[in-house]
Amino acid sequence: MSFSQIRGQERAVRILQNEVSTGSVSGAYLFVGPDGVGKYLMALNFAKVLNCKKSDVDSCDECISCQKIDHLSHPDLRVMETEKGSIGIEEIRVLKREVGYSLYEGTKGVWIIKDADKLTQEAANSLLKILEEPPPRVVIILISQAREKLLPTILSRCETIPFSLLSSSEIRRALDRYRPPISGKIPLIEKLARGRIGEALLLAQDEAILNLREEILNDLAKNTDPDRSSRLVQSWKSFPPPQLERSLDMLLFWFRDLLILKKGGGEVVINGDRIKDLERQLDRYSSSGLIKTIDTIERTKRHLKYRVSTGLALQDMWLSLAECELHPT
Ligand SMILES: [Zn+2]
Repeated sequence: MSFSQIRGQERAVRILQNEVSTGSVSGAYLFVGPDGVGKYLMALNFAKVLNCKKSDVDSCDECISCQKIDHLSHPDLRVMETEKGSIGIEEIRVLKREVGYSLYEGTKGVWIIKDADKLTQEAANSLLKILEEPPPRVVIILISQAREKLLPTILSRCETIPFSLLSSSEIRRALDRYRPPISGKIPLIEKLARGRIGEALLLAQDEAILNLREEILNDLAKNTDPDRSSRLVQSWKSFPPPQLERSLDMLLFWFRDLLILKKGGGEVVINGDRIKDLERQLDRYSSSGLIKTIDTIERTKRHLKYRVSTGLALQDMWLSLAECELHPT
């Protein structure tokens, strides 16, 4: 994939291409915006453009350098990501040591730090020096969901490239081009993706996610059975983190939809295909109960990011959800 194929982030593409063509590429960038809108993809493409053997302001996708970056096997590309809750000083020490080395085969070494908001204060402070004066052959790209999650001293040393959610029509256009065609599912996927192209394409590609949604919604559409909390805690606690987060989102959308319907805004519900089930559930909750439910799910999502015990967090959540019902059965 090249710059010209990235959808919905034309402004970011324009800025980066302009810098490449005028020779004014910065040493440090912050790609900032919501999850799933293409920040990492853009960072990889920028790395390709900076190192492409054939083309100047876009990648050719054919040369050895473009191909190696596509396969994450280019020796001058480093991607720093962590499964842990934080990126510590040790990782930054490695970066500092390695940016001092000569390049292996590229023209620009590119370091991509995913989830830069996970840098510990110590790691962020250690990174400052290198952000201030990166060697000319190195570009460091920090990726984050929100500027306010980073230290002001980091922000002031990076050129910020903002990314935004895509419009519904941009998402729909991308899904229209998806092969094999998924025409019947486009309206639902477009709503579930909420402006995030990465999520839209994943939903188009991975049928299991929509099947999981069906299972969750079928459960929510039924009256609560006494074993529901323990049954769902048992099955959800073994979910890998992305699946758990997505499942919690499905839950969140369901209760947001109920709140929207309570307030008479039926046309903007996400689960439009389940409107009858939603309407049947309306008298089980008060508006304040729904607001509490939504808060509870959001709080659980935050807690799980910090790797608290998944089982306990889910158990708490399901108990609180049951308490928010007007007529628990
Ligand atoms: Zn190339």
